[in-house]
Amino acid sequence: MSDCPYCEPPAPEFGGWVHEDENWLVAHGPAATTMAGALRVTSRRHFTDFAEMTTAESESFGRLLTRLDATLRAVTDAERVHVVSTRDRVPHFHAWLYPRPAHHPLRGTAFLDAPQQSSPADTEKTVHVIRHHLAEGRTAAR
Ligand SMILES: [Zn+2]
Repeated sequence: MSDCPYCEPPAPEFGGWVHEDENWLVAHGPAATTMAGALRVTSRRHFTDFAEMTTAESESFGRLLTRLDATLRAVTDAERVHVVSTRDRVPHFHAWLYPRPAHHPLRGTAFLDAPQQSSPADTEKTVHVIRHHLAEGRTAAR
């Protein structure tokens, strides 16, 4: 038995998985600590670093990030989508995507350091819109 919390992650707080495939699970972040549209991409397989990805994982990760970036820019008011992956607290590969609105006064790491939150209703609505956009294939990788 693994004591890794991401090897068998609990169902997301709102609306189920945003995306799931053989390599990746995508969930919305908690409303208490992330803004609407913040997503966590977690590997299904237990490993920690980019260097440990299989070819299939590294290739599909790139395609997935492209789709999620395009989707977040389409369905939120994100001017930029920041990607953060430290794996310091939980050494199971995962990366966060944080949409940064154009009107937000902060940029870069100052934006990432600022407290974030959303409402459960906004989070649930955003999950629905993101999943619908992905299902429509409007951002399918070419
Ligand atoms: Zn794990």
